[in-house]
Amino acid sequence: MASIKCPKCAAPVPFDTGVKFVKCPYCSSLVYIDRTGAGFYYAIPFMVNENDAVGTFRRWAAGSTKAKDLDKLAQLAGVKKKYFPVYMFKRDVNGVEQVFIETAGSTTLPGLHNLKVPAGDLKVYDATFDVGGAELIKPDIEMTPYLNSLPGKPKEQALVFFPIWTIDYVFNQKKYGAVVDASSGEVFSSEFPTRSSNAYMAVAGAGFVAFIGEGLLATSMLIPAIALMAVTVVAVFYVGLQVARRM
Ligand SMILES: [Zn+2]
Repeated sequence: MASIKCPKCAAPVPFDTGVKFVKCPYCSSLVYIDRTGAGFYYAIPFMVNENDAVGTFRRWAAGSTKAKDLDKLAQLAGVKKKYFPVYMFKRDVNGVEQVFIETAGSTTLPGLHNLKVPAGDLKVYDATFDVGGAELIKPDIEMTPYLNSLPGKPKEQALVFFPIWTIDYVFNQKKYGAVVDASSGEVFSSEFPTRSSNAYMAVAGAGFVAFIGEGLLATSMLIPAIALMAVTVVAVFYVGLQVARRM
């Protein structure tokens, strides 16, 4: 739990996330918690454990745009639990409160520029917060430039440690990486092995060439040309089906 110094008796007054006023336990004065300063730190608990993160990754890897059997063939090369720092800005934009999330740590990891902080899941981050073995990535981007460029008037800004799992994996001797949002279970990835479309293109190309030849033939021998076209249609369909099964 975080604490604020009572402006009347100087005692440390503990308070919870979300409260605006807190009563000083020593002198009973009501203390307003001013969050417009930059001193607030929050963390979001891990809702996705390591097994679930790997399971989520495998389901993602089984998707139709991924290489055939990527879910089974991807070899995990490292699964790491991390807290990634983001700034959360609450702004009054024409009388409406809007929340903006910006990265506070420089990163090449995918997805971290589009994180959504879940409402109500913020825990005050202080010395007593248990990170549960997660690596805490230190913020290395200043807050001030964001503060001056965002729309509206500032209401509150805070640093939020966002829970992620980073998954490194190897497929066909090449290394890839993915990030699992440990709050929502969403998977982020910038590059991944894709399903090859070369075989489909080859089948379509061969069918096209055959049709042109048969079209030319039709000018002199109509009936055999139509018969050949029928064979081509069936062949393209059949080979296409085989390609789909094998890839
Ligand atoms: Zn007091």
